[in-house]
This record gives sequence, structure tokens and C-alpha cells, in this order.
Amino acid sequence: MASSNTEQSLAHNQRYADGQAVHQPGYPGKQPIRPAKRMAVVACMDARLDVEDLLGLQTGDAHIIRNAGGVVSDDAIRSLIISHHLLDTREIVLIHHTRCGMLAFTDDLLKAGLEGDPAATKLLGQATGRAFTSCGKCAAMPSAFHAFRGPLSALDAAGDSGQSERLAWDVRRGMSAILNHPWLPSNGPDAVTVRGFIYDVDTGQLGEVSYPGAMGSFA
Ligand SMILES: [Zn+2]
Repeated sequence: MASSNTEQSLAHNQRYADGQAVHQPGYPGKQPIRPAKRMAVVACMDARLDVEDLLGLQTGDAHIIRNAGGVVSDDAIRSLIISHHLLDTREIVLIHHTRCGMLAFTDDLLKAGLEGDPAATKLLGQATGRAFTSCGKCAAMPSAFHAFRGPLSALDAAGDSGQSERLAWDVRRGMSAILNHPWLPSNGPDAVTVRGFIYDVDTGQLGEVSYPGAMGSFA
């Protein structure tokens, strides 16, 4: 199935990266509940991403689902199922980005730091450049932080090939989670399309992630 509105957003992104505004600010007036572009976007919460701006979306065009990393978590899947089946979205777009904070820690490290491990607390302080304050307590929730797989990079480190690979792995995980979910059809008359991208916070441009693709190895 064609993802024509995603293609249009990619053209808008080029204009955005060139310094042109496509997104119109201000109250747009009364609009229908169904997203006009039939798009649902899952993106990182990073403050440097203005999702409507960088995709040239207008108010009312798309569902925007954001969390730390733009991870296709259980809750993102929940939103996507509602978005598609009840509100008729057909094109899913995943956006990860360079310099993401999710590259700079692991789930175990953050949990240990929050629980009070002094070594973890020290490492997290060094990684983030701020005093990490442990809570000294364990907690059952959240079950995961979904930090990105692979060797850690420093917080806000400039993008390189290793970072791009780690980001691509997580985008592919997200695409796989969607494409293999029984309630998100990827073929037939009610199919959704899924495309994944890495946004470069240093240029404003989106780069597409191939799928399927390499998932790396420990070698
Ligand atoms: Zn991020």
C-alpha cells in the first residue's frame, strides 16, 4: 500500500531543513476527530524535535505519540491500535534521532542508580553531567526503560556510524513490533504502512531506515 502522505511529509522535511515553515501556527478552527492525513507518528520526546514542524503537518493531520526514544512500547502499540481501528489512520511513521539520550545509558545502569548503587550513581553522574540523585528504593514499575541496545555513547555525542546503527536497530525493532502485531494489519484492504526514520538534530533532515535490515552482533 502506498504511503503518499508520508512521501509528502518527506518533501516538507526538506523544506523545513532549508529553513522554511510549512506548519501553520495558531488555532485552525473546528476540525474532525479523524486525522486528515491518516497518519500516526511515534517519535522521541526530545525537546529538539518539533514533529509537526519537521514533517510539515498541520493541526488535525496526524496522531503524534511521543515517549523517551520514540520506542514502540506496549503503550505506543495501544495508541496505534486505537489510532488505526477507531480513527482510521493508515500510515505509521517512526522517528528516532541522532544524539538521543537513550544511547547514553542501559536499563540495568539506571535501575541500579535509582535503587542506590554507588557505582551506578557515579557513572550516571558522569554520563549526564549533573549530580545523579539516587532514590535508594526499588520499584516494580516501569518494567523497562527501553534504553537502546549497544555500546554506550556519551550523552549528546555527535552522530557517527555506530550511533546510526544503534538507532537503526531500535527503529527496526519498532517496525517489527508493528508489522507482526495481529491487531495492526500489514496487508489486505485494511493494511497500515510503516516507515522508520532517523532525524538528524544537526541538520533538520530525516533519513530512512531500511527494513528488514541488519540487527548487529556481539562480535
Ligand atoms: Zn531521543
